[in-house]
Amino acid sequence: MGYAEVSVNSPVAQRRTFSYVIPSGLSVEVGQAVWVPFGDKLLQGIVLELTHYPAVEETREIDGVIEPRPVLFPAHVSLAYWISQHYLSPLFDAVALMLPPGFERKALTFISIPPISDNFDLSSLTPKQRHALELVQRQGKVSLGKLEKALGKKRAQTIVAQLVRRGLAVRSYEVEPIKVRPKTVPYLYLAVTADEARQEAAKLQGKANKQASLLDFLAQHSGPVPLAEARQGVNCDKAVADALVSKGLVELQQVEVKREPISYQGITPSYPLTLTAAQESALKSIQSSLLQVAEGHTSLTTFLLHGVTGSGKTEIYLQALAEVVKLGKRGIVLVPEIALTPQTIERFASRFPHKVAVLHSKLSLGEQFDEWQRIRNGEFDVVIGSRSAVFAPQPDLGLIVIDEEHEWTYKQQDKSPHYHVRDVAIKLAELTGAVVILGSATPDVETFYHAQRGDYRLLQLPERVTPSEGSPLPQVEVVDLRDELKAGNRSIFSRSLSQAIAKAVAGGEQVILFLNRRGAASFIQCRNCGFVLRCRRCEVTLTHHLAEDVLVCHHCNYKMPVPQICPRCLSRRIKFLGVGTQKLEQEASYAFPQTRRLRWDSDVTKRKYSHHEILGKFRAHEADILIGTQMIAKGLDLPLVTLVGVVSADTGLNLPDFRAGERTFQLLSQVAGRAGRGTLGGRVIIQTYSPEHYAIQAAAKHDYALFYDREITYRRRLHNPPFTRLASLVYTHTNDALCQREAERMKRLLIEERDSQGIADLSLIGPAPAFIHRLRGRFRWQLILRGSELAAFLSQIPVPQGWTVDIDPLGLV
Ligand code: ADP
Ligand code: ZN
Ligand code: ZN
Repeated sequence: MGYAEVSVNSPVAQRRTFSYVIPSGLSVEVGQAVWVPFGDKLLQGIVLELTHYPAVEETREIDGVIEPRPVLFPAHVSLAYWISQHYLSPLFDAVALMLPPGFERKALTFISIPPISDNFDLSSLTPKQRHALELVQRQGKVSLGKLEKALGKKRAQTIVAQLVRRGLAVRSYEVEPIKVRPKTVPYLYLAVTADEARQEAAKLQGKANKQASLLDFLAQHSGPVPLAEARQGVNCDKAVADALVSKGLVELQQVEVKREPISYQGITPSYPLTLTAAQESALKSIQSSLLQVAEGHTSLTTFLLHGVTGSGKTEIYLQALAEVVKLGKRGIVLVPEIALTPQTIERFASRFPHKVAVLHSKLSLGEQFDEWQRIRNGEFDVVIGSRSAVFAPQPDLGLIVIDEEHEWTYKQQDKSPHYHVRDVAIKLAELTGAVVILGSATPDVETFYHAQRGDYRLLQLPERVTPSEGSPLPQVEVVDLRDELKAGNRSIFSRSLSQAIAKAVAGGEQVILFLNRRGAASFIQCRNCGFVLRCRRCEVTLTHHLAEDVLVCHHCNYKMPVPQICPRCLSRRIKFLGVGTQKLEQEASYAFPQTRRLRWDSDVTKRKYSHHEILGKFRAHEADILIGTQMIAKGLDLPLVTLVGVVSADTGLNLPDFRAGERTFQLLSQVAGRAGRGTLGGRVIIQTYSPEHYAIQAAAKHDYALFYDREITYRRRLHNPPFTRLASLVYTHTNDALCQREAERMKRLLIEERDSQGIADLSLIGPAPAFIHRLRGRFRWQLILRGSELAAFLSQIPVPQGWTVDIDPLGLV
């Protein structure tokens, strides 16, 4: 007899599996989805291991298999274990990342009455029990949900349990119906012969011309015609078709079609370009690694491809993918969500026609489901998608590309597991024998550190691949806002930026104004000298708390009153900073009333395709100025844009976080890369109160090395990643005081545990209110752990409900 270790879809299951007996006659494989009894419910589970002995004495039987084919590959099973351990997430949360879209279904409970109860004396029942029994009797079988609606949730459950115990009712289970339905399209076809149709059409001529044309149109086609096509063909609405249907001349039928997220219309095949010397040498390294892996040698298989925007990284991805396909394998390409634009998809689709699948959270569930199944069947050479596409069931995986690897969207922040796709991809590559390419113009400091140490192989493309005359990277001017105020300019536009905007617009060119709204108005800065108040102990910006009107350090909870004068220059011009994009748009309308403006930020783009619409409008030159947050910094290629203005570079810089400098550098570099992509050339103006800051200096000079050297020195000195690891523990509750008490209790527990185990390199910071102290009515307190083996340490600690643990958090705000 065999046993299976099953990851069960229940919040109770946490990080463990449960042992089940495999009933005789049932064949079960690793990765298979099964129904298992769990408490008094029937739940979904995934078989993660087959064993000869159960982990516990009492085991129950697997109820049945959900799908005959395993849903997870063995490598994915190992990956799920790794994610659960590494990020301290419930095992099923990790498993769920890899399940087909729409897979998670509940088993519905039904209540019915067994035959023996006919002559039972109902007088011994309470009125409520009797009422429930009558409800069931009347319909024969009732879902528990329905009873809960009629009687109240708690009461229904209690009464059902009582009735079941007395043998008066039985439970049974059925699967919730699947939510994904095949997509169908209405087709029209003739119910009569073509000749008869033509005769009928002639009769209708003059009385119902549209009906006549539609009949003629259908008579010209031999088979069924999609309704939409027919309507377009004769320019009529559906009522015309309905009229013919009611006359019995035409039939309307729903035909199942494949969903195709990529429209290949207008996509022409593209061919590999002749590589530059730098590209050639980078590709050679990747090729040889692919070959070595294919021959079963284990070698260094993670590459960092570091090259400025336009240096030809994407061409290398494309040619490396072609190499992988030649070796009989397949690839996955990850791009930041925002970069998953038709242009990006088109580039891959044109090189691998009909061999590219797209996985995208904005596809409908049905589209995702279809793509998943086809990927699983091995129909695609390349899967392209955002973060979660790393879990695509791509068979024979040979290459994973992560473009713009420094992007913050690659970390799952909003829900468990809090994984970073870079680490997941490297692990998956190790499990499957694949190669990883991390590409970026501004690599994550930690990634670059690993590349320098030799953990990854560093490939560099120092220059843009440009047509003969060579358009260099745009010129960047840094404007010191302190000088503006001294010169009497109180506008949010410096003199330099104002002039440049006026000139560009007058010349028929376009302008992007960029604002990093995050953290706006939460810190205090002197408008005279630019001084920002920081915590003496933690070196991070103090955050203003509106309710108490104090400045707070979000790392150590140090508090101070808001000063009335600047501690450095004694000026009274000490201000809350922060302009939102709306405000910026307003200011722009006053300063440049003749211009046409468009705003692009997350408020505007919540709808499915609206950022494409906004972009389309701007591209079509329906506006002169595009105003937006960091979202516009990515992936745009707009030839008419000759000026990019960063209205304030400081908002990001002054976030209370050790990655504030890195993030500012990345954003400014990306923004700077937006200008001058066309033949018109371009220029960038950065407005700031801290022109001497290394992140701003380095971005202005397009100098990654300059930035990296300074940044890594600070990281080492302040003992931040990559020289240590961090974990953030956040407790949320509606009661602030309770929140603080629980955070302090946890701190004591952690210290006790650390000391009893004698772990030397583990330190605790906090508790302090989290940067966003109150979110949707709940207060949040944060503890930060620093050390090397944080997941292993924390996995032994009981962490009550209400806590969120984030291993390797992106930032501490
Ligand atoms: P990146 O991904 O680094 O931004 P791309 O691969 O998009 O760079 O290349 C930038 C531009 O240069 C694209 O228009 C691309 O078609 C072109 N390009 C890339 N490699 C070559 C090459 N070897 N020869 C000619 N043009 C190239
Ligand atoms: Zn000052
Ligand atoms: Zn502090």
